[in-house]
Amino acid sequence: MEGGAVFGPSRSVVMDVVILLGAPGSGKGTVAGRLVETVKGFSTVSSGALLRAAIKDKTAAGIEAEGYMSRGELVPDTLIAAMIDDYLAVHSAGEGILALDGFPRTVPQARMLDGILKKHGVKLRRAILLDVSERVLLFRLGGRRICPKCSAGYHISTIPPKKEGICDVCGTALAIRADDTPETIANRLKVYQEQTAPLVDWYTAAGVLLRTHADGASDEIAGEIAAAI
Ligand code: AMP
Repeated sequence: MEGGAVFGPSRSVVMDVVILLGAPGSGKGTVAGRLVETVKGFSTVSSGALLRAAIKDKTAAGIEAEGYMSRGELVPDTLIAAMIDDYLAVHSAGEGILALDGFPRTVPQARMLDGILKKHGVKLRRAILLDVSERVLLFRLGGRRICPKCSAGYHISTIPPKKEGICDVCGTALAIRADDTPETIANRLKVYQEQTAPLVDWYTAAGVLLRTHADGASDEIAGEIAAAI
């Protein structure tokens, strides 16, 4: 693991935020899940999961977002920033670390996040890049399954459910995400390189970037991150 600026011992007297950066399939959600299980006071919110819930609930934001998501494009910056702002309005009180999985994804979103964090009195502790080779990204995305009810994530060979095709948590039949088709995957990887990868330089310049080589097992990666934050 390579670090940027070095911070002192953790200071969980207020809510701190860490950003999880990485291409689709880099394991942001899986690693965040491991951190929630192993680090006291750790929680996470996924921008993609917020959007999928909004689509399911047919909210105005969900109806607007659906077309972008099905094409593998990013939804408008202001739409997703408003959802994160609303989330923090409810969840920023108290102590601990909140991992933002999938937000920000563009430089304008990073600027918006600065304002949102200030508004809610939340500090940015780290931006963590999960650096994964393209071969592993394609393998992970190709075998990914999701629970449509509780959003638990699986992989057919590396994170299989106990009973094939059924969610361990809530017993619902697992599904392939609507945007995990080969064409949409290719577009999402392109969009990542063009619009999200510039955030690596952005957060390096801010002195908060932590780069993790994340081709390996999620437990090990989560352990490295837990030790570093
Ligand atoms: P994810 O679950 O993180 O893979 O996100 C799934 C899809 O939701 C993405 O391909 C985008 O269409 C949309 N999305 C999620 N987060 C963002 C974001 N921060 N900005 C724009 N679109 C997003």
